[in-house]
Amino acid sequence: MVNKFLFLGLLETRSDGVKMPLHEVIRNLKGYINFLKESDFILLEEKKRRRAPAEKQASHTSPKSHPTEMASKVEALKKVADSIAVCTSCRLSLGRINTVPGDGHPLTRVVFVGEAPGYHEDQQGLPFVGRAGKLLERLLAGIGLMRQEVFICNVMKCRPPENREPLPDEILACEPYLLKQIDILKPLVICALGRLATHILLRTNAGINTLRGRFFPYHGILLIPTLHPAALLRNPIQLPDVERDFKLLSAKLKEITGQNV
Ligand code: SF4
Repeated sequence: MVNKFLFLGLLETRSDGVKMPLHEVIRNLKGYINFLKESDFILLEEKKRRRAPAEKQASHTSPKSHPTEMASKVEALKKVADSIAVCTSCRLSLGRINTVPGDGHPLTRVVFVGEAPGYHEDQQGLPFVGRAGKLLERLLAGIGLMRQEVFICNVMKCRPPENREPLPDEILACEPYLLKQIDILKPLVICALGRLATHILLRTNAGINTLRGRFFPYHGILLIPTLHPAALLRNPIQLPDVERDFKLLSAKLKEITGQNV
């Protein structure tokens, strides 16, 4: 309030009633800006501006997000990851270096699900690292999202040898972990990355190009299939299609939440 009056005072007429010349107004304004700097006002504004990305991040999580909700989700997700770490329910446990449960924001509204870990994921225990991961991050950035704001995982939590497709009994053994993660996260939208993840989740054999870019119900959640980033690296001609799918996802989130993504 004091600052406002000081500012108005600087622009008013002089005490002798004569209108201030422009150069005097400018000089006074410079003095006012210096005063704000010295009083830390501008510093505070700068701090607010720098804090903006964190606030944006919060806007991508549940509007009812609460520290205890966050803590309970973190704990529940950790329990699932701990179970996966010691799982020997299928033969893929024999050749793995690391299990890859998935990672991301526990209060996210979007979950991305690929098929299975590859070489780099197996080495690091993290999903979507390497070139495919970088491309996924680029696609996310295209709709204003950062990797840390979403949850990324695979249907399979261990790498199949030589990156072969997982077998039906392996899928059956592993899928409950994904369902548990989705039950904990309760996202508004799931994005299935690639033909195989889409076929497993939607129980269909239809071609990925007829499925991608459309929304399907999946356990009460909207699911949109798109191409796998690794497939895009092999066939970049479809990049605009996938960018369109990401925009559809973003628009759907906006439609549901009323917030920009
Ligand atoms: S792939 Fe899944 S079911 Fe098979 S051992 Fe790994 S965590 Fe267990």
